[in-house]
Amino acid sequence: MVKREKVSSEELVVSSDFVASQQNLIGQSSDNSILTTPHSSLLTPHFKQLLDSKSCFKLICGAGNENLEEIERLVALYAKSGCRFFDLSASKEVLAAAQRGLDFAIPKEQQKDYHFCISIGTKNDQHVQKAVIDPEKCKNCGKCVEICPQDAISKQQMANSRVGLLSHRYEIVGKNCIGCMKCQKVCEFDAISFHISHFTFHSLLTSHLSLFTCIELHASDTDEAEVDEIWEYLNENFDGMLSLCLSRRKLSNEQVLNRIKRLIKDRKPYTTIIQADGSPMSGGEDDYKTTLQAVAMAELVQSANLPVYVLLSGGTNSKTAQLANLCGVNFNGIAVGSYARKIVKKYIERKDFFKNEAIFEEALKIARFLIK
Ligand code: SF4
Ligand code: SF4
Repeated sequence: MVKREKVSSEELVVSSDFVASQQNLIGQSSDNSILTTPHSSLLTPHFKQLLDSKSCFKLICGAGNENLEEIERLVALYAKSGCRFFDLSASKEVLAAAQRGLDFAIPKEQQKDYHFCISIGTKNDQHVQKAVIDPEKCKNCGKCVEICPQDAISKQQMANSRVGLLSHRYEIVGKNCIGCMKCQKVCEFDAISFHISHFTFHSLLTSHLSLFTCIELHASDTDEAEVDEIWEYLNENFDGMLSLCLSRRKLSNEQVLNRIKRLIKDRKPYTTIIQADGSPMSGGEDDYKTTLQAVAMAELVQSANLPVYVLLSGGTNSKTAQLANLCGVNFNGIAVGSYARKIVKKYIERKDFFKNEAIFEEALKIARFLIK
């Protein structure tokens, strides 16, 4: 059962870009219907069975992705394709959009077998940061626009008062940006940096608890004290599944394992998922190389023989399960983000996505092929 009484009055601050939505998180939903949907039971036998089956597929919509239309469509499509676990940004609006997608695809009476996970992050974790373009440094070359997988960079027309003509500049569309840093890598003028905003998430634990059964902490930064503080808060106040997403971008193998062991010591066996994050948000391609680090990270966790579920993520694609099996790596499931979104992007973006049955069916075939 949920230990609501333990929610502290002192608000923990975690990283995200949802400054604008902070008031909405704390306030009441304008759509009260979403507060009474059937996601009320935590750690249900079905949820554990899903992980015990060793074939769990988790769709990562993106910890920083607040594009509500995209999220609704992705959840609808992948739920219809057989996915039962969805990773979402910790936002009331995002949860509502995901619920609309689920309502489109799955009858209410079956929705108890579908699980939403909200993602939060430590303040320097890549998953909860957003890009910013410095207009002083930007040379308008457009390279970042071409590489961005989320269409998160827009061209803004501006009046040029000196010559009376229109010029343009590039700006980040915050709700679409997932912090993948691909734009920064191609910018030759050092014009792109990342910012972290803060919001308090604990109100979601009380006001919207019926909508999710899992919370994921992205904790690949080196600040052990911050990780401990947030994890302890979650452990005390949430009786659902906790997921810890870790990569080796900043941590050594030893640090990763020590962190896991320390954080799970007060938790019951198999109430924690370790999301073994290979190369975070790198899954644009469908080859073995892209997914190699995810398999290696899962192997590291597996070798420690801990009472946790293991999901592979970060560069995951249709080759991940095959490579993990070839390497003798056991896992409970695969979480796919960039690649899962990319392969259906052209369908999701269509205005008639929900109305055109042929289009929806075509997208369904592609999503089903990835999940199987
Ligand atoms: S790549 Fe850099 S310089 Fe080019 S448009 Fe983007 S921010 Fe500006
Ligand atoms: S490339 Fe990645 S980090 Fe840059 S704007 Fe697009 S989504 Fe954001």
